[in-house]
Amino acid sequence: MKSIPFAFTGEVLPLVGQGTWMIEKTARDRAVEAIRTGVDLGMTVIDTAEMYGDGIVEEIVGEAIHDIRDRVFLVSKVLPSNATYDGIRRACDRSLKRLNTGYLDLYLLHWPGAHPIDETIRGLESLVASHHTRFIGVSNFDSKDLKGALQALRNEQLACNQVLYHLGDRGIERRVIPFCERRRIAVMGYSPFGHRDLPTFPASVNQIALRHNCTHRQLALAFLIRNGVFAIPKASSMEHLRENAAAANIALTPEDIVEIATAFPMPSRDAPLGMI
Ligand code: NAP
Repeated sequence: MKSIPFAFTGEVLPLVGQGTWMIEKTARDRAVEAIRTGVDLGMTVIDTAEMYGDGIVEEIVGEAIHDIRDRVFLVSKVLPSNATYDGIRRACDRSLKRLNTGYLDLYLLHWPGAHPIDETIRGLESLVASHHTRFIGVSNFDSKDLKGALQALRNEQLACNQVLYHLGDRGIERRVIPFCERRRIAVMGYSPFGHRDLPTFPASVNQIALRHNCTHRQLALAFLIRNGVFAIPKASSMEHLRENAAAANIALTPEDIVEIATAFPMPSRDAPLGMI
């Protein structure tokens, strides 16, 4: 599995990991098996959140990784409504309990909320100090929000911004990716398949998939991770998991990339950050 350094952290992580939103809709034993299979396939970044299934998804993840915790880079997220200094500490404790682990690798604010970012950042930083999480970050933050978060930091750095990124929404390429690259913040793209269906592929892009002997979804993943953005597709089917893991090793040529980028262009002007 193709892996690269995760921002400044010193961790080398696979470019394709695993999402878990709505995995509670799959029978529990199959969901647990899917997550474990994903790890065996090298997709060791597991993304979850207190919001998913009202905590049930964190419990499923906890069950899946109970004996393989040290092989996993575990990411969870706090709801903005819980993101006061005390609220974030309580939320993290609840998540750790459900996940059946003593620490997270990365804890993110799920999206910008009403509580002052300075207080949220203080809460997040305190969780690093108390070893509840190794790294902290944000999600759904545009460059303006990122500036506010960076100004609030005292002791830690932002390791990651998790944002929407798929062939039908390449908006983050305009402002967010350049900003994060300058500040050494890893970009983790969520919903790489647009949550459900891919856009229709024109014949020119179909040809590229044929040449690489890969599926449309594999081609989409290979394109999205081409410049070091981490992707976290959610899959509960074994076949999908295998497909997604293998996509990290597809070597697109510069001509392939131009062709795909032309078929699925980034927006021609600045627009609000996309969010699901
Ligand atoms: P997604 O990964 O874009 O798409 C998931 C769907 O694609 C599922 O229906 C899955 O089916 C299917 N799929 C996966 N691999 C496939 C393959 N190789 N071939 C055919 N179908 C395939 O959607 P997502 O769950 O919205 O996004 C991924 C993760 O990002 C989430 O699970 C979550 O962890 C994270 N996320 C974060 C935020 C945020 O605000 N930070 C928001 C949304 C999502 P099966 O399950 O049947 O395999």
